[in-house]
Amino acid sequence: MFESLSDRLTSSLKDLRGKGKLSPADIDATCREIRLALLEADVALPVVREFIKNIKERAKGAEVSGALNPAQQVVKIVNEELIGILGGETRRLNLAKTPPTVIMLAGLQGAGKTTLAGKLAVWLREQGHTPMLVACDLQRPNAVTQLKVVGEQAGVPVFAPHPGASSAGEAQGAGVGDPVAVARAGVEEARTKVHDVVIVDTAGRLGVDEVLMQQAADIRDAVQPDEVLFVLDSMVGQDAVSTADAFREGVGFTGVVLTKLDGDARGGAALSVRQVTGRPIMFASTGEKLGDFDVFHPDRMSSRILG
Ligand code: GDP
Repeated sequence: MFESLSDRLTSSLKDLRGKGKLSPADIDATCREIRLALLEADVALPVVREFIKNIKERAKGAEVSGALNPAQQVVKIVNEELIGILGGETRRLNLAKTPPTVIMLAGLQGAGKTTLAGKLAVWLREQGHTPMLVACDLQRPNAVTQLKVVGEQAGVPVFAPHPGASSAGEAQGAGVGDPVAVARAGVEEARTKVHDVVIVDTAGRLGVDEVLMQQAADIRDAVQPDEVLFVLDSMVGQDAVSTADAFREGVGFTGVVLTKLDGDARGGAALSVRQVTGRPIMFASTGEKLGDFDVFHPDRMSSRILG
């Protein structure tokens, strides 16, 4: 994870080691290197600009303190600024005062929503919850089956329309073609069967499209989720910015889940998305297995990047 960014950043900071006092020229040179490292990592330009501006100001204004040498002080500043752009504090899941808590997943097809539904369910169960999944991706022929498989692996029930059901009221309470009715019926089912968290999987397309957005917005209006999580494939780099913008405008979301971090050497999406959307990164997915998942900790991520 983030190997190339980590290598570049640590080598940018290496040149400062052993220097007794840093001149403004030293700081400028280091900031140029950091800037290049971030651009190579595909971090969005406004985020890079802000980051460099902050580092420069703080490094030039830093008093030489007893405990840290100048190089260590710059590393400390970079670390703190990295934690800042990654969101600062870990943001906890917002749970409904009256259960069930409804969590809706949104994102492009292939981002990892269905896999995430299973991971989140396992994680929630470990926290003492009794989650249930609702299959509202009725666009892709195999999506419902895939969610059922994930549910089985995770050991959590999946609410889905019966194959062949044709109108609301059939199946487990909802028509096969109407994701809004399925979502509504799913939440109702959770209420009667005392599942305290409902995870609603929604349809994704390969690109952003209006029909998809409208459908997601309709589901949102119908079930009034406590959290809408935007699921983002971190491998897309700063393309994340335009996709996230489209989802923010079309559906709105309360938090971000970064997926496929295990394959992301650069970190551009991870470092851009918080700043450009103003929404916290809440969870990280780091592999295909159900256990490859954790709460996102900005401080741990920054330490990892800085080695
Ligand atoms: P959806 O279309 O958004 O529901 O995406 P899926 O859950 O079907 O995931 C698409 C592909 O990405 C599948 O092959 C998953 O196994 C894979 N995948 C999902 N999350 C991760 C992850 O964190 N790391 C890796 N390496 N693969 C992932």
